[in-house]
Amino acid sequence: MKIPFSPPYIDESVISEVTDSLKSGWITTGPKVKALEEEIKKLSGAKNVLCVNSWTSGAILMLRWLGLKEGDEVIVPAYTYCATAMSVLWAGGKPIMVDSDEDFNISVAAIKNAITEKTKAIIPVDIAGYPCDYDSIMNLVNSPEIKNKFHAESSVQEKLGRILVLNDAAHSLGANYKNGVKTGSETDVAIFSLHAVKNVTTAEGGAICLNLPEPFDNQQLYAELSMRTLNCQTKDAFTKTKAGGWRYDIVGQGMKINMADVNAAIGLAQIRQYPQILKERKRVFETYSKAFSEYDWAILPPSITGERETSYHIFALRIKNFSEEMRDKMIDEISKNEVAVNVHFIPMPMLSFFKGLGYDIKNYPHAYKNYCCEISLPIYPQLDDEKVQYVIKTVVDSYNKVAGK
Ligand SMILES: *Cc1c(COP(=O)(O)O)cnc(C)c1O
Repeated sequence: MKIPFSPPYIDESVISEVTDSLKSGWITTGPKVKALEEEIKKLSGAKNVLCVNSWTSGAILMLRWLGLKEGDEVIVPAYTYCATAMSVLWAGGKPIMVDSDEDFNISVAAIKNAITEKTKAIIPVDIAGYPCDYDSIMNLVNSPEIKNKFHAESSVQEKLGRILVLNDAAHSLGANYKNGVKTGSETDVAIFSLHAVKNVTTAEGGAICLNLPEPFDNQQLYAELSMRTLNCQTKDAFTKTKAGGWRYDIVGQGMKINMADVNAAIGLAQIRQYPQILKERKRVFETYSKAFSEYDWAILPPSITGERETSYHIFALRIKNFSEEMRDKMIDEISKNEVAVNVHFIPMPMLSFFKGLGYDIKNYPHAYKNYCCEISLPIYPQLDDEKVQYVIKTVVDSYNKVAGK
């Protein structure tokens, strides 16, 4: 039995929504993007939502809007996908990597230790879809001690008066932070990725959630940022096609990172059935959790803690007392049986580029510990029970083989 890792969820409703866009005569940013933004707003509770062409471009946009200058620091976890730090570099800042906790997420104690007078933002990542401890992080940036350290060096920073918290919510669309607070509305800014492997996809895409505190006007900010995604052009293409609407101005150095309607159509059809998709992901997650709880060598990933609930994006299994080498062997065994698995994540300090910048994995022992025994199992609605059972059997057999049992 061949089990792919993460095929996109494409059903008839997705195909018909895309066809609708193709036949409508309008394929780039327009009504489908607006409709998708509305759906994400409803789902997340965010005040405003702006769709762009990737998580990465959205993060660069927001960090540039914040006004990063050379030498400004942005705190990120060492344990994440490279985009989290790459966006900081492209926005002109310096990523300050910190260690993680047992639940894979950024350590709040490590954030506190890393804050300096140059810190302008923190980017916590909801690894695997499990939300970080945002109450602690927001309390930290709002505490008088930390606020006193903050040096505003742009008009936006002055208006905010403290460190910005930008949630890398690439994995956590639909996750619950606490009663009445879904992921996307718990921090100043949160960005979802709509990349092909994520829970909801537009092939490539991202959605920026805006929840800036007073005196910011999120609606006005949405309009300003929309313009910045289209070269800072005062009229978008949709408006310009109307008779007499040809004249426009360019009012700044914008980016070109808008989402196209034909892409939005994919995500629009998926998000309309997201409660069902999420339920199916949860079914697979719970079947794995129940099965592996029988084995004392398996460390189960976090899913529900009080009101906090994951979006079931990744099933991050860890093998107790396994070295990196044994984990790799186990993955080889699993692959021989045609089950595709993955590792989330290779900590950034282990990647050539970041090593070259001077980051050293020795400084992130917990990130390394989480990484070296981790195997991500396939999780998506199309996995029926027979396939899930096959994955479980393959993983157990592979463990036994490598552990010599
Ligand atoms: C996928 C991912 C991103 C990047 O998303 P893109 O839409 O591909 O730019 C960022 N952070 C994390 C944690 C991711 O998994």
